[in-house]
Amino acid sequence: MDFEAILKQRDIKPTAIRLLILKEILQFKQAFSLLMLENKLQTVDKSTIFRTLTLFHNNHLVHTIDDGSGSVKYSMCSNHCCSEIEDLHPHFYCQRCGNIFCQTLTKIPKILLPEGYLLSSINFVIKGVCKDCNK
Ligand SMILES: [Zn+2]
Ligand SMILES: [Zn+2]
Repeated sequence: MDFEAILKQRDIKPTAIRLLILKEILQFKQAFSLLMLENKLQTVDKSTIFRTLTLFHNNHLVHTIDDGSGSVKYSMCSNHCCSEIEDLHPHFYCQRCGNIFCQTLTKIPKILLPEGYLLSSINFVIKGVCKDCNK
């Protein structure tokens, strides 16, 4: 995998630390929290991890998920995703393992709001049992 190209595609300068953090992020098969990432990168300064993750988020390399647990989760964006409302997808919360999985097969339907209402974000979480826990 060309890690440098992944960063350049999102206008992020590929520094050594950013590449290291990107490699760790790509190893997650489900959404991750800042704490989960910090635990994997014990040698890296926490504020560096946070700043890098914020940069990745601002440049639409990762998106955030509010699963209602109080801690924000992050997940890699697909190549075409640009974090517009139209690109939002539902997230699946597994009630057994507690992991969050992006569900990109379904688009979030267009939300019709009465005049005067301004939409800023949509949080669409499906709860159930993931395929690993359902074996
Ligand atoms: Zn599960
Ligand atoms: Zn997602």
